[in-house]
Amino acid sequence: MKIHEYQAKQILREASVAVPRGMVADTPQAVAAAFQALGGGPAVVKAQIHAGGRGKGTIREHPDQHGVQLVVSADEALQAASRLLGHTLVTVQTGPEGRVVRRVLVEEGCQIARELYMGVVVDRAKAAPVLIASGEGGMDIEQVAARTPERIYREAFSPDLGLHGFQVRKLNRRLGLTGPSARSAETFMRGLCRVFVAQDCSLVEINPLVVTAEGELLALDAKMNFDDNALLRHPDLVGLRDLAEEQPAEIRAAEEGLSYVKLEGNIGCLVNGAGLAMSTMDLIQLHGGRPANFLDVGGGANVHQVTEAFRILLADPNVRAVLVNIFGGIMRCTIIAEAIVLAYRTVGFAVPLVVRLEGTEVEEGRRMLAESGLDILSADGLTDAARKVVAAAGGPRAPEAPSRGRAG
Ligand code: ADP
Ligand code: MG
Repeated sequence: MKIHEYQAKQILREASVAVPRGMVADTPQAVAAAFQALGGGPAVVKAQIHAGGRGKGTIREHPDQHGVQLVVSADEALQAASRLLGHTLVTVQTGPEGRVVRRVLVEEGCQIARELYMGVVVDRAKAAPVLIASGEGGMDIEQVAARTPERIYREAFSPDLGLHGFQVRKLNRRLGLTGPSARSAETFMRGLCRVFVAQDCSLVEINPLVVTAEGELLALDAKMNFDDNALLRHPDLVGLRDLAEEQPAEIRAAEEGLSYVKLEGNIGCLVNGAGLAMSTMDLIQLHGGRPANFLDVGGGANVHQVTEAFRILLADPNVRAVLVNIFGGIMRCTIIAEAIVLAYRTVGFAVPLVVRLEGTEVEEGRRMLAESGLDILSADGLTDAARKVVAAAGGPRAPEAPSRGRAG
């Protein structure tokens, strides 16, 4: 689960991690009032969406308006807010469709001496959380990692003990922080690691983490994601969820107990088991197609869930063909056959359907499909299924021209 910057900053503030003073607002008038309440000094108006790159991103209706705007008067704050609120912000992370800005954070402007990067994630190989820091803040950390990996420092820590003193000193030395800044950094790093563990985060990212003109460390941006499987321990966090920022189909799928992730392609996939779902997507790619989604109906799905899964897939206007790939272990092929027939009758299929069934009660399942009289392309094995569905969706895609970008 993701939350907004202003919510992440509130959690950090409560854990004594330094963040600028700020107020969230959802009307231009409230933004102007917040500007005054913060003291009337230079302030920053920041669009709140679940995506980064806002500073460079622009508003579709006002191409010269960025998602983060420095303002020096209540009037300017009001003007920036009226160009942001209710409008669509497009950033490198939102995709071309952008996101509607529903709230902005009005924050005290800060005098930036240096911009650093700091984040915490779980390192699966080390089986431990790891604090990541770099002196190259304020920019795309993936690029720093790709071009100058030696400028990224990692320190794994125990969830119980936190960072050791020597790890803090090592990071301070590498980041060139001394005196009061080093003390401020120690409080900051320890606080960040504590929050990560206490809130069952999957990611905390502060980019930029700034050293102010006074030498204090302050989180200017904050991104926080939580481990969905731990949310039952954090009822307070569940309340921070913003459904308007999530894919409606993903919300519906989660309610039905299905794992669904929408993707960019045009071949809908209905598969049981995450591993089989991944390899099905790989096979589709291998044969020149592009999956429209990841969908795992799970091992023990019932007819209702599978019908819902079809409903979700078929509601995606990009879907040109559907591949059902089921290996009946706990799941019986007859359940799938029954759901296909039901979905055909209730949801209706406007696109070709390729079905590959194997495993428990497969003969019976195939017979049910054959006798249903429905227009189904049955496949024999994985490769046959992938080829058939790629052809049904319009054939393999042309190889991408190397000179053009992904959006091209
Ligand atoms: P994003 O990562 O989505 O672009 P950030 O919160 O990192 O958004 O803001 C972009 C840039 O705006 C920062 O790198 C920083 O230079 C500037 N900025 C953000 N908040 C403040 C602030 N409170 N005071 C001064 N500058 C800020
Ligand atoms: Mg940022």
